[in-house]
Amino acid sequence: MEIDQLVAITGGTLLSKTTTPTFETICFDSRQATFRETELFVALRGQHTNGHQFISGLAAQGTRHFLVDEEVELPDHANVVRVESCLRALQQLAIYQRSAFKQTVIGITGSNGKTIVKEWLTAILAPTQYTLSNPKSYNSQLGVALSVWPLSNRFDLGIFEAGISKPGEMDSLELMIAPTLGIFTNIGPAHEENFNSIGEKIREKLKLFKRSNVLIYEADQQELAAVIDKVFAGHKLAWSRKGRAEIEVSHSPGQLSVQWNGQRLTFSTSITDEASMQNLTHCIIAALYCQTPLHKIQEGLNKIKPVKMRLELKRGVRGNQIIDDTYNNDLAGLGKALSFMEQQHMFHKKALILSDFIQSNIGKADLESLNELLMAKGIEKLFAVGPQLKEAHKAFHMEARFYNNTEALLESDDLEDLKDHLILIKGARQFALERVSRVLTEKVHHTVLEINLDAIRHNLNFYRSLLKPRTKIMAVIKAFAYGSGSSEVARLLEYNKVDYLAVAYADEGIALRKDGIKSPIMVMNPNVDDAFNMIRYKLEPEIYSLSLLREFHEAYNAFQKELEVHLILNTGMNRLGFNQTDLESLKEYLRYNPGIRVNSIFSHLAASDEDEHNHFTLTQIESFKQMASELSALLNYKPLWHILNSGGITRFPEHQLDMVRLGIGLHGVEVNHKYQNHLQRPAVLKTIISQIRKVKAGETIGYGRQGKAEKDMVVAVIAIGYADGYLRAFSQGKAFVCIKGQPAPTIGNVCMDMTMIDVTAIEAKEGDEVIVFGNEPTVSQLAEWAHTIPYEILTNVSSRVKRVFYSE
Ligand SMILES: *Cc1c(COP(=O)(O)O)cnc(C)c1O
Repeated sequence: MEIDQLVAITGGTLLSKTTTPTFETICFDSRQATFRETELFVALRGQHTNGHQFISGLAAQGTRHFLVDEEVELPDHANVVRVESCLRALQQLAIYQRSAFKQTVIGITGSNGKTIVKEWLTAILAPTQYTLSNPKSYNSQLGVALSVWPLSNRFDLGIFEAGISKPGEMDSLELMIAPTLGIFTNIGPAHEENFNSIGEKIREKLKLFKRSNVLIYEADQQELAAVIDKVFAGHKLAWSRKGRAEIEVSHSPGQLSVQWNGQRLTFSTSITDEASMQNLTHCIIAALYCQTPLHKIQEGLNKIKPVKMRLELKRGVRGNQIIDDTYNNDLAGLGKALSFMEQQHMFHKKALILSDFIQSNIGKADLESLNELLMAKGIEKLFAVGPQLKEAHKAFHMEARFYNNTEALLESDDLEDLKDHLILIKGARQFALERVSRVLTEKVHHTVLEINLDAIRHNLNFYRSLLKPRTKIMAVIKAFAYGSGSSEVARLLEYNKVDYLAVAYADEGIALRKDGIKSPIMVMNPNVDDAFNMIRYKLEPEIYSLSLLREFHEAYNAFQKELEVHLILNTGMNRLGFNQTDLESLKEYLRYNPGIRVNSIFSHLAASDEDEHNHFTLTQIESFKQMASELSALLNYKPLWHILNSGGITRFPEHQLDMVRLGIGLHGVEVNHKYQNHLQRPAVLKTIISQIRKVKAGETIGYGRQGKAEKDMVVAVIAIGYADGYLRAFSQGKAFVCIKGQPAPTIGNVCMDMTMIDVTAIEAKEGDEVIVFGNEPTVSQLAEWAHTIPYEILTNVSSRVKRVFYSE
């Protein structure tokens, strides 16, 4: 697009001009700038950043076009267009592009399933028509503008979703999308609080289809259908499973049939759950309406996979662990949940609480194979709820009890027999097994640390990608795996074939063994008093002095056990370790005591993450190699050598030796900021708003009257304080938390169990979720605010904060 055209469309002013007149792409996040001459940078204000700050930096690196709505210093050699509002200008661009587009545009809205319907429909239609659709779930005021603006007559089709949360938002989305064909996915309770009635919410969403010729919806959603009948003037493609509409639809496992133009068309699908069936039906009818050949529709359906489900592992009462999946129950989903279960505990006994399936036509053969599946997955106890399962009780060969309904199970007290089990709760929605889950899970005070196990695995694999295939990994999980929960993290690492684990104290290692961890474990601060337990639980001491070696050797001799050790050398850290000057006596001791097995020799870098100490780091590595060779020379085997920690792996991969020791990197903190974008953040610390109050100008807030209300304000009390690990240093606006993605700074002093935050600018209510750290703000940001390091923030989260683990 020509810059002059941009000026004309937006009514802006061209403040400075270069000789490059056109741009092709738009960038609004300076971190993703490509600095190409054909990129327009749009300066938007985000939660904590203002795009205008980046202009001179971007210009220096080659960006040539800027759209701004504030006064900025004008860079040389750049086109700068100033408008009233950058967001509005982007919307004007989208409207302009849309109005020039002459082909079909499909618009999608509704409470749930918008993104799925958009993605699936794109998968079905894109092979036959050149299609533009929103990336991810870009369905907001900004997202839609960015999604629609690349539209041009090169495309055959546009498919866009629109999402709103408040009255009045749909009009501008409608102007940009202006769908010719509409899909109203469904109506549910989301954002109810912002509307007076469900009718009002439906009417607001329907505004998207003001100018549409055709609208697809499910007539069995009766409230929705009633409003559409009143309001929508175009052609209605209503479908129903209950004979309420012309298009009759029926679902059975593996199949979906649609009555279309007098014909019954049947498609096969691997999807079975209710919500997905609804989404799929919308897609099929839209594709039929677009005259897509039937075999192309089927090919598209074959590509669609069931949506990922999120499984959580929670701590239960009486030492149980709970996997809670009480939303849905079908055979495929059960299989997936059982595999998730298999990945957890080798050690626990396994129990399954299962309701009837939603499929009604499950036959004898299905139940027999279900029995085999459960036996194969090691289910020892089955609690079966519902008439379908009860009738089939003979099919199950494990210890099993049967109940007519969930109430009968709850009243039976049978669940009290469950101790130290891994329990999967899997049930169809109508059985409301969440009541069972509530009885079995430990009560959480509302502050939790959620750990995404997939993200830890992702990070592990990222570091692995920097290593040679034969380099081993020792995962350092001292201090409760940097606060994340030792056993759960260890289990994941073991499953993903980490070679060694390292803990700080013998106790931590013993707890891992009791939880069934089998990997070799090194103890970094061993005490000879623990020798017996270290032998019993097969824990290997790190040895840092001759006297410690002697003590351990004597203790192990007394139990007539071979001592396996890891020798740490001091090469400049000056923490634990043998010095160069200690080597002679160490060598002598080893020579005279050939029964001691040295599993590894290692050292620790003092400043692996700091450029300015590179030279020092390299000297450390050199003297390590030299000392380690001296020691290895007198052994008739080669111990593993290792020196790199997370920071070292990214900066000195050429010195990875036999093994590396990975700690903080697993938790998504890349201390060198070199690869931060490649890592995911597994931990999210969450709490809730306990109370909201209005505070008048002039009043003070909290202890010491340190918080002052400069004007009338709204203050929220959140359920986290310094006893949970939320540092007192975060007091008085030094930190913010996020509510619905918006930042709320602390006000006054952080208390022991509570903190006050300023929510004057946020529509917050009691009970709302509060993000203390996660993607926003990050652990690293908190560390910066408290003038400390991310390690301290992570390990400070106190043990009274419940850890909840999940995997997608
Ligand atoms: C903690 C620790 C590590 C891990 O360090 P990160 O910087 O977290 O990767 C490695 N080695 C030793 C000896 C440690 O104490």
